[in-house]
Amino acid sequence: SVISRSEWGARAPKSTQTIGSRVRYIIHHSTGPSCFSRSACVSRVRSIQNYHLSKWDDIGYNFLVGEDGNAYEGRGWNIKGAHAGPLYNSNSIGICVIGDFTSSSPNAAALRKVQALIKCGVDSGNLTATYKLHGHRDVSNTECNGDRFYRVITEWPNYSRTP
Ligand SMILES: [Zn+2]
Repeated sequence: SVISRSEWGARAPKSTQTIGSRVRYIIHHSTGPSCFSRSACVSRVRSIQNYHLSKWDDIGYNFLVGEDGNAYEGRGWNIKGAHAGPLYNSNSIGICVIGDFTSSSPNAAALRKVQALIKCGVDSGNLTATYKLHGHRDVSNTECNGDRFYRVITEWPNYSRTP
C-alpha cells in the first residue's frame, strides 16, 4: 500500500504527461535528512515537492520511500517523472529513498518497502517482468543513489549496470 498524494497533502502538478512503456526502475536517494515517522516523512515529501515545483511540473519521482517503512505516491505509475533525464524519464519508474545513503544504507524497513513496490509494479502489470533495475548513477553522471545504498541494489534481482 502507498500513501496517496491526498493523504500527504500534495500540491497540484503544473502539468502531467502520461508515461509510455515502463521497462526499468531507477533508484535514487534524496540527500538531506532521513525520516523515521510518518509525520516526519510527510514533511520531507512536501518539502521535496515544494523544491521540485520551483523547477519542474511536480515532485520529480514516481514514488518516495521513508525509513518509517512507508511508500509515498509521487507522480505514480502512469505519469512521466523528472528524475533521470529525458532519455530515461519516458520509460522508467523513479523510486527515491528519503535521506543520504553515501555512508550508510537505508534501514531494513525502507529496503523492504522498495522491494515490495518493485514487486507490486510487476504484479499489477505496470512494469514488464523483464524490467531492469539501475541506480541513478548507472544512467547519469551523479553520485545518486549514494555509495552504500548503491552497493545494496547491485545485489537485487534484475539489477543491471548498463541501461
Ligand atoms: Zn537520483
